[in-house]
Amino acid sequence: MYALLSEETGRELPWGALTGIRPTKIATQMLADKKDDNTIISYLKNVHLVTEEKARLSIEIARRETEILSRHHYADGYSLYVGIPFCPTRCAYCSFAAYPLQQAGSPSASHPDRTEVLKTKYASMTDKYLVCLEKELAATAKLMRGVRLDTVYIGGGTPTSLSVAQLTRLLKFLRATFDFSKVKEFTVEAGRPDSILDVIGKLLTLREYDVDRICVNPQTMRQRTLDAIGRAHTVEQTREAFHLARDAGFENINMDIILGLPGETPEDVAFTMREIAKLAPDDLTVHSLALKRGSRMWEERTGTAESTQHEIAAAMSRIAIEGAREMGLVPYYLYRQKNMTGNMENIGFAKPGKEGLTNILGMEEVQSILACGAGAITKRVWNVPPDDPQHGLIRRAANVKELEAYLSRVDEMIERKEMLFS
Ligand code: SF4
Repeated sequence: MYALLSEETGRELPWGALTGIRPTKIATQMLADKKDDNTIISYLKNVHLVTEEKARLSIEIARRETEILSRHHYADGYSLYVGIPFCPTRCAYCSFAAYPLQQAGSPSASHPDRTEVLKTKYASMTDKYLVCLEKELAATAKLMRGVRLDTVYIGGGTPTSLSVAQLTRLLKFLRATFDFSKVKEFTVEAGRPDSILDVIGKLLTLREYDVDRICVNPQTMRQRTLDAIGRAHTVEQTREAFHLARDAGFENINMDIILGLPGETPEDVAFTMREIAKLAPDDLTVHSLALKRGSRMWEERTGTAESTQHEIAAAMSRIAIEGAREMGLVPYYLYRQKNMTGNMENIGFAKPGKEGLTNILGMEEVQSILACGAGAITKRVWNVPPDDPQHGLIRRAANVKELEAYLSRVDEMIERKEMLFS
């Protein structure tokens, strides 16, 4: 069907007909079966119609993931994810459970003259959220007693949109409730730079509780794009937040960028990469914009034919990949979503030794992830011997996404987890 449509439209997709499976999964399996690169490339090209460029990339990443995982005993441990579904304001392209704490007219890049922060109704729900979250975390710690905790990830939303007092409370609670003695990686997303610049001391609080990896996400270094997508912060704030994080002692800083943002051209991506290179992050994730009606929005913002859009997306991807390599970053994980710009992919790059372990464990589905908070999805991986009928079994328990539903149904979320691990 793909070949027929490809011939009819004159278009080829970078990942060919490969869908519904992680591109690195096939390469990982074939490498484990001692197949050489040429055999894997031929297979991906001939069976899944993947381009040679992407086939090589998937082998490189599969090899890197396998090598990193071989350094860790992950099978009998677990990871913890803590979801904080609040952000300073809501970005225009966001599809996550993210509730804005500030009204759109608050001081921001677009409203620098405003001095008073106007709060939303969600701002008054953060304390109640923490109470429910702590209840779920306590139940989770009880459920996993005796199992080694390997990684902790506080994501969202933007966890650092909480106040210093709330962050301190959460971190203190986590340290008192879980055994952190074997934790290899403790990440907090400070995605929005404005969330760590508003109050001095947030970053120091994170360091005080041994957070060793932090995400400061520019998405783009073009101010006009940030304004267009409703990220109420400036490019300068991104630089400032990054330097502050370094000064606070963070030696592993991740940055995220998005390719295919409204109005951006390959030259904008090249500009963003040059600006990011000056900051020299330890880890860089290159996302391709994924929107529910992505193709229509892409059409609206570029006014070009779809085939040209794919070429633009491919050019952006090449610039980003080359730019990351020039910074000394090596690709180490890759995943795809529906409706991605140009049918591309998301790639994580890192300096050797600075790779986000949580990302690999999650992506490769080799370890259970206990996830707490609104919209969090717990995954149980049965790490049992190959002769066990449950070998390879993976089951999920999803928490409700809506904030109010989570607050009123947290006991049910706990029960879902207990059932999954019973
Ligand atoms: S910072 Fe991320 S989670 Fe928050 S609104 Fe923007 S895209 Fe959504």
